[in-house]
Amino acid sequence: MLSYQHIYHAGNLADVQKHALLAEILSYLTQKDKPISYIETHAGRGLYHLDAPEAVKTGEAAAGIDRILGKGLLPVEHPLLQALASCQAAHGETAYPGSPLIAANLLRPQDSLHLAELHPGEHAALRQALPRGRAKVHLQDGFELAQSLAPPTPRRGLLLMDPSYEIKSDYSRIPGFISTLHRKWNVGILALWYPILKDGTHTSMLRALEHQNLPGALRHEVRFPPARAGHRMIGSGMFLVNTPYGTKAECTRLDKIFSSLK
Ligand code: SAM
Repeated sequence: MLSYQHIYHAGNLADVQKHALLAEILSYLTQKDKPISYIETHAGRGLYHLDAPEAVKTGEAAAGIDRILGKGLLPVEHPLLQALASCQAAHGETAYPGSPLIAANLLRPQDSLHLAELHPGEHAALRQALPRGRAKVHLQDGFELAQSLAPPTPRRGLLLMDPSYEIKSDYSRIPGFISTLHRKWNVGILALWYPILKDGTHTSMLRALEHQNLPGALRHEVRFPPARAGHRMIGSGMFLVNTPYGTKAECTRLDKIFSSLK
């Protein structure tokens, strides 16, 4: 039974890194008229309110997106801020978009979205959060969904994998999964988020991923203080395959932003 709920962490510094890169890649992909496919294996509920008791309790959004916005560290034309503005216009000032809503905001009618969420409550909330008919929302294991869709139509596109790593076998399963997925969908951009953990639990997964020498592979990491004393996460990473042009510049921007927070 899954118990993770992203509302406790929505808008934290890990979300800022992941969502800024996601928004930038989607913005790049939508410069051409050609339609794209967007697939998400671990979608979450899509819409968060940062004044919810869970978010206030951890204070992670206050130390994350609120701090970034307060200091004016992202330029107003950044696609993440465009998605945030649309989300707030539709759902109120305290709204924060999860990755599915960022994608729904930045993609066009000709683009297709497939989202998997296995937790029944989060899945139901996700269906509610998205404009009717905008996305196919699957109450299904995201790994299975991705396998069954790859290669999607249209073939151009991006897959985001953002597990909660609640199931510890995710760490050992993911490298093989990404390799198989890449063989089936060799033009697809694959993006994996992972936590940087004090005890190094994530490192063998990274070594296995890097060992595969996948084309256009890029690893980007940012560090930040643990959210609470004793918290294991001390940073956040994205591992990309078929990294598009322009992503490195966004990584450089994020490096500067996170350095300025120290
Ligand atoms: N990507 C979201 C965002 O940035 O807004 C956050 C997703 S949250 C980190 C991970 C989600 O994956 C949780 O809602 C959890 O219920 C769901 N989940 C866990 N294992 C899954 C699986 N095998 N397939 C689909 N969803 C899963």
